[in-house]
Amino acid sequence: MPFHPKLLTAVVCVFAMIGCGAKAGGEAAGRAPGKAPASTATKAATQQSGDEAPAAEKSGGFDGKRAFAQVAKQVGFGPRPSGSEALGRLQEYIQSELTSYGCNVDTDSFTADTPAGRLPMKNIVAKIPGGKPGIIMLATHYDTKLMPNFVGADDAGSSTGVMLEIARLLCSKHGNYQMWITFFDGEEAMKEWSDTDSRYGSRQMAAKMAMSGDLAKVKAFLLADIVGTRPPRFKRESDSTKWLVDLVWDTARKLGYRNVFLDESLEVSDDHNPFLKRKVPAVDVIDLENYPGGNLYYWHTPEDTLDKVSPKSLAITGHVFLESIKQLQSK
Ligand SMILES: [Zn+2]
Repeated sequence: MPFHPKLLTAVVCVFAMIGCGAKAGGEAAGRAPGKAPASTATKAATQQSGDEAPAAEKSGGFDGKRAFAQVAKQVGFGPRPSGSEALGRLQEYIQSELTSYGCNVDTDSFTADTPAGRLPMKNIVAKIPGGKPGIIMLATHYDTKLMPNFVGADDAGSSTGVMLEIARLLCSKHGNYQMWITFFDGEEAMKEWSDTDSRYGSRQMAAKMAMSGDLAKVKAFLLADIVGTRPPRFKRESDSTKWLVDLVWDTARKLGYRNVFLDESLEVSDDHNPFLKRKVPAVDVIDLENYPGGNLYYWHTPEDTLDKVSPKSLAITGHVFLESIKQLQSK
């Protein structure tokens, strides 16, 4: 982990909260919704303007309004932890959406041993054929943290909405390389974030792809997680593969999003780790300003509701992903 005094607060938060989910949950549970700083911030957030998604042609065809509607749809299913009935309904919805876009859909149902018992989980993958050998993977998780009244609009509704919209745009097109748009189950820890309690879906998929030989074909793995914040602030994830981070960040700058894709760095544990560990070039685009006063003050609390998600932030993320894919497809 790189040490940087300016980043110390953020890094501590990341490790205290992402790295120790149960602790974060405990803190969150202890924060009464409606108490001062959080409710004030909620009010401010809902009153902000300039938050509308631009017309799709201004963000490379990506329709931020549609992506936002996909977030609303997910929130409508209620809390969606792994193994829940609500997540089952979302799985059906994701599969039917992907099919309606003309995607070939593969699923992998498996059982995970977790501190909350044996749970059924399912990874869902939209596969788009390509002419050349090689796979470009996009990924998000779609389960929400096991916590009362937690509907996970930003975590993980936002990135799931972005990936559904990207699938809608890309499933009808063939690229040079195959594209796999992946929806992981079981990213969240059931109790406390650790290598064995978290990232169940991505660990399953990386292991399975290593066995089948598909993993060696992956040219790049691009993960989105928590991308609906307003305003969004993405830092370079320090474990991610440098050339791929540079490609995404350079693309963002060319598109005019310099103030969103920042030069600071931050280390985050997430669904890209099982792929990085197996030498797959990977990048995680995530907003983790999850300390008091940061954009993500509502992270892993029941306040992660639809009003926190900005259609404009979804559009920026979608735009950068689409243009980055174009770059990768031309390599
Ligand atoms: Zn989370």
